[in-house]
Amino acid sequence: MPETNYIFPPSPVPALPIRGSIALFPIHRIYCVGRNFADHAIEMGHDPDKEPPFFFQKNPDTVVLPGTPFPYPAASRDVHHEVELVVALQGGGTDIPVERALDCVYGYAVGLDMTRRDLQAEAKKHGRPWEVAKAFEQSAPCGPVHTAAEIGHPGEGTIRLTINGTIRQDGNLNQMIWKVPEMIAYLSRLFTLKPGDLIFAGTPAGVGAVAKGDTMIAHIDGLDEVRFTVA
Ligand code: MN
Repeated sequence: MPETNYIFPPSPVPALPIRGSIALFPIHRIYCVGRNFADHAIEMGHDPDKEPPFFFQKNPDTVVLPGTPFPYPAASRDVHHEVELVVALQGGGTDIPVERALDCVYGYAVGLDMTRRDLQAEAKKHGRPWEVAKAFEQSAPCGPVHTAAEIGHPGEGTIRLTINGTIRQDGNLNQMIWKVPEMIAYLSRLFTLKPGDLIFAGTPAGVGAVAKGDTMIAHIDGLDEVRFTVA
């Protein structure tokens, strides 16, 4: 078979480590759900009863691998942490029924939906899209994928972010407005989901600014803690 004649080498496939394996999880797309915890919706000035959660995306190559620092990004003076459960898909499709949605899940990771909050506030004010706030370079620090075969499908348990030893976010996965199967089913009506997709499942209350030199420790019960320093 002749080699494909690209005009320059294609970018490498972004991938996450898998706990207990030397194999890697290749990332296709990153979807994120907004306002999926009522207490976080309220702290951002919204009524969680009136407004259903919604989706935005980050680019797959914005993932920061475990063991790598998170570089404080350009163009912002107010970069916030959002600790989130990350769902890693091994299957996909369109119009996936809720009852079959968990069959698509390969595993779970702890992730951080880092946000340039000042640019997001500006975008909201002018009704502009969120990419500059959410999809900047290295905006998605993420821990290793734990297989659902190993840890099951976490529906409750502590989700917490600690900075320099102080707890900033402390919620429970059972506070998620939309559960993982509902999210997958809903997303699959809007997009064709594929193996390799990651879904950041939303953050509990307590989001706030980080500073250079901070150490962020993200914890979800049942998964290994992940640590990212702000460089
Ligand atoms: Mn988020």
